[in-house]
Amino acid sequence: MVDFSDIRGQFPILDQQVHGHPLVYLDSAATSQKPQCVIDAEAEFYRTINAGVHRGAHELAARSTEAFEQARAKVARLVGANAAEGEEEIVVTGGATAGLNLLATAFGNASLGRGGEAAKRFALKPGDEIVVSKAEHHSVLLPFQELAYRTGATLKWFDLTEDGRIRSDTADEVITERTKVVAVTHVANVTGAITDLAPIIRRAHQVGAVFVLDACQSVPHLKIDFHALDVDFAAWSAHKMYGPTGVGFLYGKREMLEALPPANFGGSMVELAWMDQPAQYMAPPARFEAGTQPVAQVVAAGVAADWLMAIGMENVEAHERTIAAELLKLGDLDGFRILGPRENADRIGTVAFDVAGVHPHDVGQYIDAQGIAIRVGHHCAQPVHRHFGLYASNRASTGVYNTVEDAQALIEAAKGVRKFFGVE
Ligand code: PMP
Repeated sequence: MVDFSDIRGQFPILDQQVHGHPLVYLDSAATSQKPQCVIDAEAEFYRTINAGVHRGAHELAARSTEAFEQARAKVARLVGANAAEGEEEIVVTGGATAGLNLLATAFGNASLGRGGEAAKRFALKPGDEIVVSKAEHHSVLLPFQELAYRTGATLKWFDLTEDGRIRSDTADEVITERTKVVAVTHVANVTGAITDLAPIIRRAHQVGAVFVLDACQSVPHLKIDFHALDVDFAAWSAHKMYGPTGVGFLYGKREMLEALPPANFGGSMVELAWMDQPAQYMAPPARFEAGTQPVAQVVAAGVAADWLMAIGMENVEAHERTIAAELLKLGDLDGFRILGPRENADRIGTVAFDVAGVHPHDVGQYIDAQGIAIRVGHHCAQPVHRHFGLYASNRASTGVYNTVEDAQALIEAAKGVRKFFGVE
């Protein structure tokens, strides 16, 4: 049995008062809080082994390189990826946004003929199609929309069900023989809906398209195995999985990473560079990690991955589901509407809601005055809000440290909001 109250006790930030109330943090979809072991790992790195990785002859450089590569392996284990030397499938990035832009840029470079024969599978030309969904965070929508503009390819998208789920049942029509890239989210950051990926991935591969997953909101909450899912690429951020800000990871099937041309250029990614001919780039993952890496943060992210695996992702998922069930009761309040599936099995504990007659910023401030942190706004996902006929919404989202009492506190606070603003 996992003791979740002990886990909560590992987060020093939660032990404080906000506006005279004990802090209730329900904004983990924006960023998660950090357990003491992650905070300590970053400081310990600087205290004991800080050095540039991969190219030093001295002992500290060897130790920091070892710690960096071990962290990569820990993160790989969390998501079912390969980590053995020469088979690495995890690339260090600056975050999910950086990873998705890396891919879109690399596909653009392949479209210009860079990367030779092997990279042709990523190349786009006018008439080709890129498929996304209306539920995407702008970090997926915009890089792939820009890629379409740059290459002349057409951007297409999956529509959503009334309750905001990606219409996977239309995969055979939306993805065609012209589709070269499909990029969708695993869990949507507004609706919390878990995408039914199997029909989309099957169809994408049937037509020879590359499948890219936004795993930002799934890696911290669900047990993930990218091999079993058969995704080609997946991007996510460390800061939402109890790790530091400023780093993220890009998973790529080994043969995909080997075929992909680089997107960023600089130090530590070439075998040979000349003045008068193109450089010869290193094998993955180094080919995609130009420049000095955020080593301390990667090492701490590795600690976060280990810490999550020690709790067990099945336990994390089950725990957060009990809180989600409570949060969904927001939908029973007068004038409240849940934006997303009402069935707990189809979602995670990210619960967006609209309050009739009250602007989300007013809702957010009213709730905050009672020490409860939720997020308001469009959550960098405007098309999904348009789908619901809204510009913005309120969003409560869970982490491992939350309790059913946290959800109840939000519901109690929310009960007064319409009356306070004179719409009840
Ligand atoms: N995709 C989804 C689904 C997200 O929730 C987020 C973070 N809000 C991102 C992508 C982008 O992550 P980051 O800002 O950490 O790069």
